[in-house]
Amino acid sequence: MSCKRLKIRIAGIVQGVGFRPFVYRLAVERTLNGWVLNDSEGVLIEVEGHTAAVESFCAAIVSELPPLASISRMSSEVLPLTGEQGFLIDTSRQSDLRVAQISPDTHVCPDCLRELLDPHDRRYRYPFINCTNCGPRYSIVTAVPYDRPSTTMVDFPMCEPCQQEYENPASRRFHAQPNACADCGPALSLHDQKGTLLPSADPLAEAVKCLRRGDVLAIKGLGGFHLAVDPQSSEAVACLRHRKRRDEKPFALMVPDLETARQFVKIKTAEKRLLEAVERPIVLLEQITDQQLISQLTAPGNRYFGVMLPYTPLHYLLLQEFPALIMTSGNQGDEPIVFSDDEAFMRLAGIADLYLCHNRRIHIRTDDSIVRILAGEPVLMRRSRGYVPRAVTLPQPQLSVLAVGAELKNCICLTSADRATLSHHIGDLKNISVLDSLQQAIDHLQHLLDVRPQLVAHDLHPDYASTAVARKMPDIPKLAVQHHHAHLASCLADNGRDEQVIGVIFDGIGYGSDQHIWGGEFLLGDFSGFERVGHLAELAMPGGDAATREPWRMAFSLLYTTFGETIPELPLFDRVAVADRKLLLQMIAKGINSPLTSSCGRLFDAVAALVGLRQTVSYEGQAALELEMYLDDRPLLPPYHFAIEETADKLIVDPRTMTRELVADLHQGRPTGQISARFHQGLAAAIWETCCAIRVRYGPLPVALSGGVFQNAYLTEKVCQLLVNADFEVLRHRQVPPNDGGLALGQAAIAGRYLQR
Ligand code: ZN
Ligand code: ZN
Ligand code: FE
Repeated sequence: MSCKRLKIRIAGIVQGVGFRPFVYRLAVERTLNGWVLNDSEGVLIEVEGHTAAVESFCAAIVSELPPLASISRMSSEVLPLTGEQGFLIDTSRQSDLRVAQISPDTHVCPDCLRELLDPHDRRYRYPFINCTNCGPRYSIVTAVPYDRPSTTMVDFPMCEPCQQEYENPASRRFHAQPNACADCGPALSLHDQKGTLLPSADPLAEAVKCLRRGDVLAIKGLGGFHLAVDPQSSEAVACLRHRKRRDEKPFALMVPDLETARQFVKIKTAEKRLLEAVERPIVLLEQITDQQLISQLTAPGNRYFGVMLPYTPLHYLLLQEFPALIMTSGNQGDEPIVFSDDEAFMRLAGIADLYLCHNRRIHIRTDDSIVRILAGEPVLMRRSRGYVPRAVTLPQPQLSVLAVGAELKNCICLTSADRATLSHHIGDLKNISVLDSLQQAIDHLQHLLDVRPQLVAHDLHPDYASTAVARKMPDIPKLAVQHHHAHLASCLADNGRDEQVIGVIFDGIGYGSDQHIWGGEFLLGDFSGFERVGHLAELAMPGGDAATREPWRMAFSLLYTTFGETIPELPLFDRVAVADRKLLLQMIAKGINSPLTSSCGRLFDAVAALVGLRQTVSYEGQAALELEMYLDDRPLLPPYHFAIEETADKLIVDPRTMTRELVADLHQGRPTGQISARFHQGLAAAIWETCCAIRVRYGPLPVALSGGVFQNAYLTEKVCQLLVNADFEVLRHRQVPPNDGGLALGQAAIAGRYLQR
């Protein structure tokens, strides 16, 4: 029988994920000889034996990959036979692991879960059980190389049995850095409102009692604190809303299993797959009408619930006691989620009645990720725990750059060769405490990836806090990137593409090259540059920023554009004093504090206000979201009409006909759901028509859809249908959010191309 020896090199997420024991097992099963080791590029293997066995070994590496591992490159070369006997895990070359990728935090695996619930296992009901296939990673890593002393587990010297597992290549816990048990590892503790430690033999049981009473429990989790209440009690939910000063934004639910969740939400196959995925995101699921189990206060005005499965052993133990728990970020308002005990006692004071803590430190915070199935594909709305720090592979290697994102849903990006690593969700930089968090994220990511960027990219907006942070960085060139160009590039990079496309970039707000506020843009562009070939007609934003918080102002603006001074009577006006109306119209007419915007988000706001859904909003995108939630397309009515006006160099999407049709519908008393459907369909048709007109002018190109508006499922599905039927290739986001949370990826790709030139 023929024999051969292969040298195999594997790159990707292959360290700290049980890869070497996995390779060891595959080799031993096939009585192959050789060794496996970690080095700076990933994993290196030499293997020798019968040719067929070596080949099946190579195939099994790919087909049986451990759950947390992912291979980005694999290559092999044939070596002369050496006659080596036995297979070894070689730990000698572990000194230089810096470029190796760190795995995201991961939900407890089925093996650990089985042990957790097995009364005969030594880790029975131990809330911190983990192995090489699961457990905390990104949130506990303090430095590289990824080794126990470089994690917050350094606080816990292993006991004898744990140490043996750690050293045994045949064990599932071989080099599992967070390995622990009840004898040596982290433990739960209970604290009262003031943070004083409460002596308790069973903190978990006390926590369950607290929730049953309808009290608010703060729970320290994987990447930060949650605030939990029992969603079956409307009083408890109302109390949490009141204390958190969060009137309307939906709360997420954690459920013990899908069976239980089906009592109050519909779960389609794609959604089931997503709920059960290793990332364990919050998935937006349609509520069952008239469900009685969950309080309506959980997600007021919303047809969806955000639902997730338990992801830590502690969550599993807690959820054994409830059909669902509200698990919302432990913070006040828009502050960052709290992740250290002392901070929690301070900042959650007055909100939490009791704290369920533990003594494993969280080094870097990571919020729960949020995903929605949209036109059959998952779309990330927030990319954080479970996904971070997994890198996006760029279409081309480039010099290292740092991109600091925009203002809302901030997230940064650092590149190294062809890898773009996005940080955890940082938050809205309007909040001063989030700003510190941005600086920490920059430092941490540079340290972790050991990358010194050669350029820092920031948004073109001169007043963004992220722009200020970038400008303050000493001794490094800066590049200002136009917001919607960055969205376009983000969608390209997300799809591994590097070519010219038509970018349909619809969002709330972005600073334009002409210093106007953009947000309904048709761009022709690639990583090197762009041309603005079309946009939504500009509307005045009377009162500037106030128009963002008060959509009724945008409604007036839209009416003024359409009807001039003689705007028709509408129920909306009952709520606005005559003097205020006059003043507002004067502001618009004279252009006083009324910046012009082509923003699609503001158009949605105007329509939501016109139909009487929303006069003010308490969070960004709320009016647009509710307009989508009310949508009812049965019976199917004709879309409202947007005229496409062609000028020499641009296509302008004019909303005036649409507005007249909408006002006529209002006067006829047409239901809000139908008006919403006609508006959505009209907008989709306008996008399609504009893309067709661009194709006539510039030739056939793929269309990239990006910007926060493309979190709207109905609009996105309609646009995709129309474009695909017209033979356009449509690029949508897959790995990063279409909203500003994915913006830094685009900034980074543009900056990389800029450095190359
Ligand atoms: Zn495990
Ligand atoms: Zn132990
Ligand atoms: Fe944006």
